[in-house]
Amino acid sequence: MNNSRLTIAQYVDGLASGDRIVLSKAITLAESNLPNDQILAGQLIEQIMPRTGNSIRIGITGVPGVGKSTFIEAFGNTLSDDGKKIAVLTIDPSSQLTKGSILGDKTRMQSLSKNPNVYIRPTASGNILGGIANRTREAMLLCEAAGFDVIIVETVGVGQSEVSVRNMVDFFLLLMLAGAGDELQGIKKGIMEMADAIVITKADGDNIQHATKAQADFQHALHLFPARSSGWSPVVSTSSSIENKGIAEVWKLIKKFQTKTSESGFFEQQRSEQNVQWFKEYFQQLLVLDFQRNEFLQNAMAKLSVSVREKLTSPYSAAQQLLAEYHKLIRES
Ligand code: GDP
Repeated sequence: MNNSRLTIAQYVDGLASGDRIVLSKAITLAESNLPNDQILAGQLIEQIMPRTGNSIRIGITGVPGVGKSTFIEAFGNTLSDDGKKIAVLTIDPSSQLTKGSILGDKTRMQSLSKNPNVYIRPTASGNILGGIANRTREAMLLCEAAGFDVIIVETVGVGQSEVSVRNMVDFFLLLMLAGAGDELQGIKKGIMEMADAIVITKADGDNIQHATKAQADFQHALHLFPARSSGWSPVVSTSSSIENKGIAEVWKLIKKFQTKTSESGFFEQQRSEQNVQWFKEYFQQLLVLDFQRNEFLQNAMAKLSVSVREKLTSPYSAAQQLLAEYHKLIRES
């Protein structure tokens, strides 16, 4: 076992006392794909589950340059003034692929990172088939166990990570630029449909008029979407992070959402559904990892890959054969 690992009791106690070093270590443990780490992480998550769920979970997305980090700085400081403890988990889909980062974490959110009520942590993102599982959900639960009241999960609005983030948060916020046209912003209609609120950023100086116009346009566009099962009608507002305008209003809106959907029962219902989703996703991850660790199956896969490359076997038939090998293995075990 890795020497930097603690015992379960040390993790649990450290989290209970809000120890950030222990929290960071626990998230690193949850992100590890080493079999021993996964067993430990599984036990840890199991133990802390009763202490989770007490935060409001907010997803924030938008294209690079829309003003996410500047918004989160202003928003985080507003929440901190409201007496909240905030954890910010950032997911950067680019970092695995290019080793570069769209989010450029080193220079981001500098004032927020000095706020004692705030904890900021980039979390691993990636595809389980590529070997790296997304463990943001586990990171979120660990932050809750460490006593954070608000969890912000930030993602770049360019990839598939939005859907998985939408499936783990209570409230999903989409940041948009005025006057850029939604195609230009690379935002798919599907992402707008997932949003509980849209905030038009940089509503200051010469841009105020554009922002107000965009607000009306987006509000109109949202009316054309079918009604939500939540009973909540998504709201469009404007903000200026540098002038600290429209930021407290977003927080008020989120609190209103929480009250309304708690009363209607939707809040809990959504979390229950998300738990079912989590169970299914995690099971798939376990299956894939199990598969990847099996030498016999890896060899079979390598051989079939050669066959496919040499056009001796079709990809379809190779996949079926590999599945058959897997089934055979299960029957024999
Ligand atoms: P991110 O890539 O979405 O995280 O965007 P950033 O927060 O890094 O912001 C991108 C650029 O927009 C930076 O140069 C910011 O200074 C600028 N910016 C962010 N928020 C505002 C705002 O409220 N008003 C104005 N005028 N500029 C802003």
